[in-house]
Amino acid sequence: MMIRLSSISKTYRTGKVPVRALVDINLEIDAGEFIAIMGPSGSGKSTLMHILGFLGRPDSGSYSLFGTEVSDLSDEELAALRNALAGFVFQQFHLLGRVSAAENTELPLIYAGKKDIREKACSKLEKVGLANRKKHRPNELSGGEQQRVAIARALVNEPMIIYADEPTGNLDTKSEEEIMNIIKELNRHGKTIVMVTHEEEIAKYAKRKIVMRDGRIVSDERNPENTSAAAVNSEALSVLNIVRQKHSSIGQVEFAEHVRQSIRAILSNKIRAFLSMLGILFGVAAVIAMLALGEGAKASIEENLKTLGSNMLSVRAGSARVHGVSREAGSVTRFTFDDVAAISRFTDLVDSVSGYMRGSGQVVYKNENWNTSIEGVGFDYGKMRATIPQIGRWFTREEIARREKVAILGGTVVEKLFGDKNPVGRTIKINRIYFKIIGVAPEKGFGGHRDFDDTVYIPVTTAMYRVLGRDYLDSIFVEAKSPQTIDEAQTKIKDMIIKRHRLRADDEDAFYIRNMSEIQEMLTSTTKTMSLLLGCIAAISLLVGGIGIMNIMLVSVTERTREIGLRKAIGARKTDIMSQFLIESVVMTFSGGLMGVMLGVGAAFMLSAFVGWTTKVSFFSIILSTTFSIAVGIGFGLWPARKASMLDPIEALRYE
Ligand code: ADP
Ligand code: MG
Repeated sequence: MMIRLSSISKTYRTGKVPVRALVDINLEIDAGEFIAIMGPSGSGKSTLMHILGFLGRPDSGSYSLFGTEVSDLSDEELAALRNALAGFVFQQFHLLGRVSAAENTELPLIYAGKKDIREKACSKLEKVGLANRKKHRPNELSGGEQQRVAIARALVNEPMIIYADEPTGNLDTKSEEEIMNIIKELNRHGKTIVMVTHEEEIAKYAKRKIVMRDGRIVSDERNPENTSAAAVNSEALSVLNIVRQKHSSIGQVEFAEHVRQSIRAILSNKIRAFLSMLGILFGVAAVIAMLALGEGAKASIEENLKTLGSNMLSVRAGSARVHGVSREAGSVTRFTFDDVAAISRFTDLVDSVSGYMRGSGQVVYKNENWNTSIEGVGFDYGKMRATIPQIGRWFTREEIARREKVAILGGTVVEKLFGDKNPVGRTIKINRIYFKIIGVAPEKGFGGHRDFDDTVYIPVTTAMYRVLGRDYLDSIFVEAKSPQTIDEAQTKIKDMIIKRHRLRADDEDAFYIRNMSEIQEMLTSTTKTMSLLLGCIAAISLLVGGIGIMNIMLVSVTERTREIGLRKAIGARKTDIMSQFLIESVVMTFSGGLMGVMLGVGAAFMLSAFVGWTTKVSFFSIILSTTFSIAVGIGFGLWPARKASMLDPIEALRYE
């Protein structure tokens, strides 16, 4: 005996009143039988068929298949049984709308992990008379043709039993006859058929007729009109062997299929998919563009620092407010030219010294005017800070001593006031005072977001007494004789300043001495802070993007409930459904990420081409953000995918 049901009962408790769908069913089915289950609507026919087809479980009773108790098997093992032994044909056909007849037919083979699936699918389609409809989609086929595709799908993995639930319920009389003849042929070639129907006409095709009423079998008789024997292979199968062959992970064919299907799903819903990718897209683009900006700024700062040399010290006054508290009057160190002179007296340690002050001012030439920064510098500044002009000349010591009104312009200022004309020898007004231009400073570029060429250099003395109206310096630049003497120079200068300005030795905020390696460290720590900030922005936008994806995946799972039910019916396990939806969400975030990379690289390119900021797109940032977008796909796809995989196949198939 192939199947033996004893005292099978099933009660649905989902509604207010429990429904006893099956009551104490006893039934034996032999290989090669053709059974029609009949009875009024609601009598339990479908429920019985689902249990027979391993789609549902009874509440009590025993189901023995070739002597193995099916009720004891796990969900995964039942899925393997459905895939290997059962073929389902439903009243509603349940074909996947997006794919061709051939692809619909090969679905069970994908879950079975078989090879040459296309050939097998095509040969079954030919068998049901659809040789020239293989590439058609369900909506390009008639009802009868769709049901024939469903039959081909049910047959493709060579099952032993075909379960058909009202297979002709949605068909016209002519298609009905075609379908029934196919089913009859199948039985003649040895397939066992269990068919639910409520039409006597259809039941006549069967060899055995079971009538149900209120969950019970009320009659079970042979059909005297159809006694043809089937070519049965009555060997008993080892059910346990079948269920143990199941593989735990998904195979390559299945993986490729899921990727293909998800691309198709995305393409058939282009706008919706695109909108849900936007979060990821902008997140990734922002990360790429901002990292490129950060890297570019870092590179140009480093470039600038290199030209400065490593022997540099800068002595700077402390700020008037420290930790938010105003300092007492007089405790802010104010450097004067006497300090410059005092430092330059360390002749064995120090090479050059320059006072420095910076303010802002308006420069005017004829009708053009421009607000820029005014830097007052000493004679040595030109050599120390690589500012000696190539067009024109640097200040002389005399000009600086005599507070003369001569100026050297940065490139940006030249461009604003003179366009491409040579400004040397002309006269401009700086804060309403006439200055003669003696040179154009070499190009220094950007550092951070400051344009070092948007500046005017004038003698520090002129700046102090005539232009900026301040009687103290902002800082003093010192160049030590060699890198070896820099530490000693730093200590000596510090002690000297403390003594000269009568500072308390423990007052660390009164002034600062920085050397270039410290400045470099400071800059790198600034870039670190910036990277951290960028990381936060990236994390937030990826989070938001991920939630968008999760939302759309949940919608997709709901929309495709019946598809999930169908896939489970033909043998997809939880893992298969889970992988399908995870792959779909990853494909979505990954393509969003790729578009984001393109947008980000484009934005970085535009920033440097049109705004003039230095940018540097790093390969690392591209890898990083694509990896992240994949991770977001997995992370946020997990819940929808799990939800899909947990669906009950029967419930899912009934979903409207
Ligand atoms: P048939 O196929 O003979 O029309 P079914 O087997 O589908 O009958 O259903 C038998 C009874 O169980 C019906 O009363 C139906 O309303 C009920 N039923 C079927 N499925 C469910 C379900 N998932 N939840 C609650 N009740 C159900
Ligand atoms: Mg039914």
